Formats: sequence, C-alpha cells, structure tokens
Amino acid sequence: MQLAELALGSIISKFKSLRNVGYETFTKLFRSGVQPILEYSSGVWGFHKAIDIDKIQNRAIRYFLGLHKFAPNIALNSEMGWVSPSFNRYICMLRLWNRLMLKPDTELCKKLFLVDYNLSDKNWSSEIKKICNDLQIETVYENKTVCDLAYVKDGVKELMLKDWRENVVKKPKLRTYVTFKNNVDVEPYVKHCNLRQNRSIMAQIRCGILPIRLETGRFCRLPVDNRLCELCNLGKVEDEFHFMMECSLYQGERERLFNALNVDIRDDNKEEVFKDLFRNNWREVILYLKYIWKKRQDKLFK
Ligand SMILES: [Zn+2]
Repeated sequence: MQLAELALGSIISKFKSLRNVGYETFTKLFRSGVQPILEYSSGVWGFHKAIDIDKIQNRAIRYFLGLHKFAPNIALNSEMGWVSPSFNRYICMLRLWNRLMLKPDTELCKKLFLVDYNLSDKNWSSEIKKICNDLQIETVYENKTVCDLAYVKDGVKELMLKDWRENVVKKPKLRTYVTFKNNVDVEPYVKHCNLRQNRSIMAQIRCGILPIRLETGRFCRLPVDNRLCELCNLGKVEDEFHFMMECSLYQGERERLFNALNVDIRDDNKEEVFKDLFRNNWREVILYLKYIWKKRQDKLFK
C-alpha cells in the first residue's frame, strides 16, 4: 500500500509541476502507474474487502477534482466515471479464471484449481461462483468455460450502478446531487475542463461541500431549517438551489447567465432549469459560480 501511495504521490507531484493537465492524462497515469500496484495478483485475492485501496483511489480523485477529504466518497467515482476498485477486481479474478480454463487438466495449477473447485466452500472457487451469480453468468462457473470479458466489464458497470443507486440516497450532503445525477458515467466538466480551480468549484457545489450556510451550519450542528442565507432577506435556507437560483444578491449575474443560455425562468420551471444547468451547461455554470462565489466572499468578509 505504501508503494501505491508513493506512486500516487509522484503522479500528483508531476501534476503540480505540469499544472492543469486533463482528465485523459490523469486517468492514463493512474491506470498505468498506480492501479497495477493496487491490483497486483488480485486475480487470487480480489474478493477481499480492501478499504486501503479504495482510499488511494479516492485520494487520487479528490486531488484531481480539487475536493477536500470530507467530500462524500460515493460521489467521487461517479463524477470521474471510474469503476470502484472492488468491482474492478471482479474482472481481474475472471481473467485468472479464463487463463485456468484454457490450461490442460494435467498442469499442476489446473489440478490445484480442480481440487479447489470440487471443494467450492469458502474458497477461491466459491468466490468466483458468487461473482458469476452477481453477473448472471452462472453457466460459466457450472460448465467451467471461458467468459467474455467485454460482457463482464458491462456487467460490472451495471453492478456498480445498482450499488451506487442504493447508497447515494443515504448521504444527506448529496440530497441535491441525486436530483440531477443518475448514472456513474464521467461528467463533461470533469472530462473537458482543464483548469483544476474551475473543476473544483463545480465539483464542490455538486458534491454538497461548497461552504455555503447549509454546509457550514453542519459544522456547528445547526438544525437544517436554521441554516438561513445571511446575504438576502428572503429568510430561506442557503442551500445550492437558493444560492444559484433564488438569492437576490446575485440577481444581475443570474439574469446574464440565463440570457446567455436563452432560458426563460419561471416559478414552475425553476427546478428543472436548475437540474439542467448541471447536466448540460457546465461552461456557463462554472463562470457563473465563480462570479457569485467571489461576490459572496467579498460581501461576507470584506
Ligand atoms: Zn440569499
């Protein structure tokens, strides 16, 4: 694990010196420099829970997105479109399975495998069986055949999505996030915005950790209903929606944004427009966020 941390550290320091390198490069560096260390021999042990490995992948994503350590982990992989390490190891295990299936029964490793397979109780084979069940490819296990890894990769993504949907709704910080995000695919702003500072403000508001009143009130355990906006007198909770769509302090900036997007805001379409901002208009939204965030900080602290 230390080795992986060192590898990640050296990639991050390369990034610091290069500055503002994009998603593809970062992903490639992680996949070629860190992931092989994290997955070393995982065809054999991949079914174990390995929290330390998740931590390293999460740390890499937090660095890339410019998020602090209290960012909800479950949103990290879904912003980057990366498969979570535990699901990725399913693929490593089935790759080893395929290699074994192609070996003649006379080879020592195949003989050992057959002993394991015939036992199939709390061992490697029983874990493979479980994975095949999860991926609905039971016949691969039963008939001892090679599986199609492309199909497995799609299946793993499906499993990850199912798991993500079950768990993302349990995080209070992500109550807004779940209204506009419903998949685990990489987000356009992550892929195309090369300025880390810009990615950061977008990632923070999406992941519910931009320090507006809703978030800072959490630090002093203020009940949610009392986390009111201090920048206008509408008497509303300063959540992401109020900050971006309602607060009168940013009326001018908001009008400019919606004029540029050619969107007519009414009370009955406000919520849909808000979700749409995150889904389709990342460039404009990042600029808008930077303006209004600066205005907020100036008003509060200058
Ligand atoms: Zn306000």
